Amino acid sequence: MSNTIQRYQLTFCAGADGCHERAVFSRDFHSRLATLLEELFTGPDGLAETAGHGKKTHGGFRVAVSDCPNACSRPQIVDIGLIGASEPLVTDAQCKDCGGCVEACKEQAITFWDGVSFPIIDDALCVRCGACIRACPRGTLQELRHGYRILVGGRLGRHPQLGTELSGIYDETESLELVRRIVSWYLANARVGERLADVLNRNANALKEILKKT
Ligand code: SF4
Ligand code: SF4
Ligand code: SF4
Repeated sequence: MSNTIQRYQLTFCAGADGCHERAVFSRDFHSRLATLLEELFTGPDGLAETAGHGKKTHGGFRVAVSDCPNACSRPQIVDIGLIGASEPLVTDAQCKDCGGCVEACKEQAITFWDGVSFPIIDDALCVRCGACIRACPRGTLQELRHGYRILVGGRLGRHPQLGTELSGIYDETESLELVRRIVSWYLANARVGERLADVLNRNANALKEILKKT
């Protein structure tokens, strides 16, 4: 989806069409995000007009949402990318050693150690796809939390770079608040024609400051 004058582009993966890989199942996050971007870029505050953006930034500010780490909407190469995340928790419910979680995990993040009757998840390998939770018949693996991983400052073009991932998983409200802060900061600080990556690259501490705001 994109607006007609390309102040911004908002892209979703096909998760909402019923993709079985989805890590998040939001009913209204997509529409809330669309409303927020519309307000920020075209609303009465005129932020986009003040900064001269949209009209002169080729293609506009880009936001992409993928409902799981397969990242079909390519959130790594847009200004703000959101990746659905479902983080597993190993509970006390007895594991029946069926191997379903190991088979479901495409990252080889789950192992069973000799003498240990529950799975061990390697946090560094886990991408929070939630597949192991869905595969577990006993409830040994349950969802600790879900939301979005957020990447900022990705781009293609002449100087391509992948977005920088913020630490953590953000629920829907937190994600929308972060999008609001980042876009507002971008519109206040960008020169005409600059992508978010450009502005962040010349403001080394900007992300820390944006995240610190209450
Ligand atoms: S990103 Fe995941 S949920 Fe979205 S369409 Fe691709 S596989 Fe399905
Ligand atoms: S959430 Fe996904 S990546 Fe992480 S352990 Fe489970 S299946 Fe593997
Ligand atoms: S899927 Fe659940 S019951 Fe099966 S081995 Fe994994 S944790 Fe145990």
